[in-house]
Amino acid sequence: MTGGGATNHRVNLPIAFGRPNFSDEEIEAVTRVMRSGWIGMGQETLLFEQELAAAVGVGNVVSVSSCTGALFLSLVSLGVGAGDEVICPSLTWCSTANVALYLGAVPVFCDVDEQTMLATPHSVLAKVSDRTKAVIVVHYGGLALDVAALRRVLPAHVAIVEDAAHALGARYPDGTPVGASGNLTCFSFYANKNLSTGEGGAICCPSAQVAAHLASLRQHGLASDAWARYSQPRQPFALQGLSELGYKLNYTDLQAAIGRVQLRRQAEFAARRQAIADCYLDAIARDWPRLRPQARVGDARHARHLFAVRLPLENMTCDRATLVSTLRAKGIGISIHYVPLHGMPLYQPQPALPVTDFLADRIMTLPISASMSLDEARYCWSELIACLATHGGHP
Ligand SMILES: *Cc1c(COP(=O)(O)O)cnc(C)c1O
Repeated sequence: MTGGGATNHRVNLPIAFGRPNFSDEEIEAVTRVMRSGWIGMGQETLLFEQELAAAVGVGNVVSVSSCTGALFLSLVSLGVGAGDEVICPSLTWCSTANVALYLGAVPVFCDVDEQTMLATPHSVLAKVSDRTKAVIVVHYGGLALDVAALRRVLPAHVAIVEDAAHALGARYPDGTPVGASGNLTCFSFYANKNLSTGEGGAICCPSAQVAAHLASLRQHGLASDAWARYSQPRQPFALQGLSELGYKLNYTDLQAAIGRVQLRRQAEFAARRQAIADCYLDAIARDWPRLRPQARVGDARHARHLFAVRLPLENMTCDRATLVSTLRAKGIGISIHYVPLHGMPLYQPQPALPVTDFLADRIMTLPISASMSLDEARYCWSELIACLATHGGHP
């Protein structure tokens, strides 16, 4: 086996909750770009964008330095500014809400469904006001939210942006791939995501005009980038035509070279993640049905970025912290996704969110990645039920 390629029969401790999977192919690709003399944003980045757009089935992809940058530029392109309200769930990574704060806008947290852990048309609508400019939905764990249903209930002036950091390869309930909904949809290529290039992100965008604006915003607001000027010598000099304040949030060819290989390996990664999820789901049904996994919406493809469960705290004699620290001491990368944002000092004061508050003490994520073996998944499960049997009352 090369690199982090997983075989089914090995248990290497500790088992990280998410671990990237690189083969010799990624190493060769990045070496090729290093030797080429062009490591900034150039031809590799353009090819990665085209290949990702084709994989998702969207007209345009604009790569950026992170998903945080992608969400931020999406809000900039929608004209979100001071005093505007941006609705998002509280059960997410802090990027989702922080990008509103960058622009002087106000994050307004909405609740989620207890079973799917996703925002719902009802929970979003409950937070809409005259000042709402956008909603950032999160496809939690890789389960795609029904954005078409949300669109039908939202007022026309409210834009939908999708935080699809977990959801590359997922499909909406109607079977469309995530990224092809017509909304600005943001992916992450951070170290532990389903496609990893260390850092990185991308915005899927149906409109060529909006994509050109986003591409300019990621490079200071310039009309052309260094590769265009280098590869087409008749392009204007760098600073000609600077008319809008942009940012420095571009991707690089070093990352894109890794990304192109990772993109070609997505089917292999998805199959491994699904096999691990199936292993956990079968084990839960067999051994501990009170442990509730995240519920699906229909049978559309789940990207299986996180495997989230709700603990039956009422039947347990210990709290979650004890369980997590016991399992971590055994080398099992149990994690919490997430400590809800509406309780963070940065965002105070905030109203209560009953379902999110209920989930906050109960959710836990089990290790899953394309680098994990099925033996490792079985090992995680057997240690977890041993621990639950000690502290957890009856299955
Ligand atoms: C990872 C993550 C992000 C941020 O991605 P970066 O590429 O690290 O900026 C945003 N939202 C969610 C839900 C994430 O999990």
